[in-house]
Amino acid sequence: MPIIFFISGLIIGSFLNAAIYRLWTGQGIVYERSICPHCKHVLSAWDLVPVFSYLFLGGRCRYCRKRISWQYPLIELVTATCFVLLAQNFQFSISNIQFWFQLVFICFFIVIAVFDLKHYLILDKILLPGSVLALIYAIYTHHLPQGLVGILIISGFFALQYFISKGRWIGFGDVKLGIFLGLIFGIGQGIILLFLSYLVGALVGVALIAADQKEMGSKLPFGTFLTFCGIIMLLYGKEILSFYLQLIGF
Ligand SMILES: [Zn+2]
Repeated sequence: MPIIFFISGLIIGSFLNAAIYRLWTGQGIVYERSICPHCKHVLSAWDLVPVFSYLFLGGRCRYCRKRISWQYPLIELVTATCFVLLAQNFQFSISNIQFWFQLVFICFFIVIAVFDLKHYLILDKILLPGSVLALIYAIYTHHLPQGLVGILIISGFFALQYFISKGRWIGFGDVKLGIFLGLIFGIGQGIILLFLSYLVGALVGVALIAADQKEMGSKLPFGTFLTFCGIIMLLYGKEILSFYLQLIGF
């Protein structure tokens, strides 16, 4: 059973790659044929087998031999792994609608994370449908009130920073992303998500400064940390929350 989720994850991951690329170039996401970004050759089905085509072609385009980014197989593998881990959380029972909601949220998170990392941008085109879906999810799981407070906490926190710093510390995209995340995670998990994101952000920041890649105060894609930690929270949120509550003595 896990293998089915893994293979579906590889295929969806390959679709997410295309979506990330086309959201940037402005092409249609679903109907257009895939092309090589270098030579624009239309790719055949054999060029598009997730991970395997990349390995088989040695990470190069079949037609122009230019390098293909390792982002492609990596995202396919990450998506596949997330699918298996999430399905495991639900004991591989796909009749649970919450599973499908969370699966779609993971896909949204992957797209937002990679897109913000590459372009320092969180698109409304992604946030809007995501937030509508998160609203339906909050209503369906009867945690809409918590979701709304979650928005106040996450978006409110970012909005405050945005206005104090006049957009230097954080982008307005993060404020909007807080709506999507607040609805999904509510209060407890929402606060932990914030903590976790700042922790990961700080670690990455320190590592980059140590490696001389960034200067103190230079820009980091915070949406990437938030959605990366969002995936962790979707997969392990309950465990992390109870660990944290134990830690502070509840
Ligand atoms: Zn090519």
